[in-house]
Amino acid sequence: MSPRPRELTYAEARERVLAAAVPLPAAHEPIARALGRALRRDLVAPHALPPFDNSAMDGWAVIAADLASASPNAPVRVPVTGVAAAGRPLERVLARGEAALVMTGAPIPAGTDAVVPFEDGSREDGDAAARFTLPVRAGANIRRAGEDVTAGEVALAAGRELSAHDLALAASLGFAEVELSPAPRVAVLSTGDELLDPGEPLRPGAIRDSNLPMLAMLVTQAGGVLTLAERLPDDAARVAERVREAVEVSDVVLTIGGVSAGDFDPVKQALDAIGEIELWRVAMRPGRPQAFGAPHGRLFFGLPGNPASVACVFEALVRPALRKLQGHAALDRPRVPVRLASDLESRAGRTDFVRCALEWRLGALWALPAGAQVSGHLTPQSRAHALLVVPEDAGRLQRGDEAEALLLRMPEA
Ligand code: AMP
Ligand code: MG
Repeated sequence: MSPRPRELTYAEARERVLAAAVPLPAAHEPIARALGRALRRDLVAPHALPPFDNSAMDGWAVIAADLASASPNAPVRVPVTGVAAAGRPLERVLARGEAALVMTGAPIPAGTDAVVPFEDGSREDGDAAARFTLPVRAGANIRRAGEDVTAGEVALAAGRELSAHDLALAASLGFAEVELSPAPRVAVLSTGDELLDPGEPLRPGAIRDSNLPMLAMLVTQAGGVLTLAERLPDDAARVAERVREAVEVSDVVLTIGGVSAGDFDPVKQALDAIGEIELWRVAMRPGRPQAFGAPHGRLFFGLPGNPASVACVFEALVRPALRKLQGHAALDRPRVPVRLASDLESRAGRTDFVRCALEWRLGALWALPAGAQVSGHLTPQSRAHALLVVPEDAGRLQRGDEAEALLLRMPEA
């Protein structure tokens, strides 16, 4: 007695998955551990950047009005009465007719309003005075307090994937820690009596398990940590038991294969024993059949067995969920506009994910299917740069049409 799968569009399936994927509670972590992770709370600047007016050059801090008449024929000589360096401010206020030596990053001495770089003046009497042959604009070569960041502004918004540059900005603002969600704990269980480890010799009727290593890597790349990555025999009782154990220690449990209508499909037979899981028939290709549920508030995905289907369902549903658990605002791979290098068959009423090779031509990315779209084949997936998305409402696409693709990697130049 097999349950009837629920029929869903890709958009409906995605909506259900994302509704069940609640971001994991955030905690403070050192910025050294934040690279590539999602910022969970807006970072509001507690002060301006730069924090004070400072010199952009090594030179002289001057009062622009003192140099107003300077020309090659009538140079202006100004006595130098102090020095300001980075970290060593000049504690005096300069009066008209005075200048100070000033180094890059030094606070602008009080009273002065411009910096003349060394190359635009000349030293006189050692460093006792400076000679100028040109006027200077007030404000020249001064980096103003707040011109990079103003106090109170949102320097980095929640949901942002943190780069080294973002974390440099956070450090400048005094944040030694930022709020992050922990890495989702993910179990990957593949099923199949026909499957071998990569190191095992082939025997009749057997193939090697390629989905387990692929998913383990995709999960890690998407920010997850593996709790389990193992293969199970086609034994429903064993699968049910292992999934229940995996649910205890994981935020997300992925099974591979064994979820279709065959006589030995152990995941499908185990669904009732696991509980709170539905069999889905999602109008997407590749990618059928699937099961999804939230047993004990954890996420369960019963992925199909064919390599292309596993990879596609991972990109279409699992990766967005893993990213949402971490608090990322951007859930998908980068979406890039591409043009079709050939006609593309597709059926309205179904979302197609086409494994495509990309090529630069006259400044645009052109997409060509990377081999036959057979869900058991591995080479198209290996050659593909992107998954071209043919939305549900689109039928056949024609050469030259524009489309959107999920970028897996850039084509070689
Ligand atoms: P199933 O849904 O278990 O019937 O699997 C569908 C197809 O995918 C079969 O041809 C399986 O041999 C193949 N398959 C299932 N799991 C894996 C795996 N982990 N690695 C490679 N191929 C697999
Ligand atoms: Mg199987």
